[in-house]
Amino acid sequence: MKLFIPGPVQVSEKTFAAFCKPLIGHRSGDFKSLYGGIQSRLQTLFETTQPVFLSTSSAWGVMEGAVRNLVGSGKVLNCMCGAFSDKWLDVSKRCGKDAVGLQVEWGQPIRGEQIREHLKQGGFDAVTVIHNETSAGVMSPLAEIAEVMREFPEVCLIVDSVSSFSVVPIAMDALGIDVLLTGSQKALAMPPGLALFSASEKAMRRAASISGRGYYFDFIEFQKNQLEDMTPSTPSISHIYALESKLEDIFAEGIEARHARHAATNALVHDWVRRHGLEFFAPEGYRSKSLTCVSNNRGIDVAALVAGVKRSHGFIIDGGYGKLKGKTFRLSNMGDETEASVGELLSALDACLTA
Ligand SMILES: *Cc1c(COP(=O)(O)O)cnc(C)c1O
Repeated sequence: MKLFIPGPVQVSEKTFAAFCKPLIGHRSGDFKSLYGGIQSRLQTLFETTQPVFLSTSSAWGVMEGAVRNLVGSGKVLNCMCGAFSDKWLDVSKRCGKDAVGLQVEWGQPIRGEQIREHLKQGGFDAVTVIHNETSAGVMSPLAEIAEVMREFPEVCLIVDSVSSFSVVPIAMDALGIDVLLTGSQKALAMPPGLALFSASEKAMRRAASISGRGYYFDFIEFQKNQLEDMTPSTPSISHIYALESKLEDIFAEGIEARHARHAATNALVHDWVRRHGLEFFAPEGYRSKSLTCVSNNRGIDVAALVAGVKRSHGFIIDGGYGKLKGKTFRLSNMGDETEASVGELLSALDACLTA
């Protein structure tokens, strides 16, 4: 079996071997060398001079944590364009925050102007944006959004890059992103269970002024511990070994080459979609580079296609997220996929469609 769903994605043997290394004490010198040793490469990838924190949780832990750390008595604007970003509004409300939803139709991007219209009303502490909405295959224009955020310096920008991190450049410091977070099992092609994040000085000042941060996701705890190359609680050490191995891969390939590889594999999928007279769920210019959400305009039996490629080739694809089930299907080119491996997937799909 091979995973071509947009998360979790296929994990390489090398990454798994690193994951399975013998454990060490999380307060030991060996652990500090491990975490300290990857810090500067993490900062390079995050395009930040701020420390990068490791949370033993899935991305949602930090997504909830960011709201709890940065939103006080003010409002939070949750930008919604698909299943994950819609959920963030619900999560903010469950944290007891005064949460406002900026909803666009699933498949459409979030635009800077829409954020400006809301923030103009005043009283906001933070905005949440999912850079690459995985359920709909739509990528919102971060630079445009960051530009608008500069008009509202009192508001923090929280960005989820779970399925776009290391796929396209995301210049955290240059864009003025206050929290940039990602998870292990999508763009980074590691086993699920680790989240990575960094926070600006403004975000850390805000956090320090806010009560009700809790403990497990308290950014101030992460910061204190990181100064000694440690995490607040016992982390999944196995994940950090896997991360060290993945960083080796990323820097051996080169970050720009990695971006170019994703662009090339994504373009292969796009060609395939066009060749088959299928359509894209997201509009031109706002399509994800790490997965493709294909609109089923031809009335294909998506369930049969999903079952077919699984049976014939052991390839697992996704038949549409939630309310998009059957109306779309999603093909991932995240992680370690190459033009050759994506080509194999597309040939398998061809065989199933003509069978
Ligand atoms: C998968 C995903 C999440 C949630 O990740 P978990 O690891 O399940 O917490 C959040 N945001 C995006 C964009 C995702 O693709």
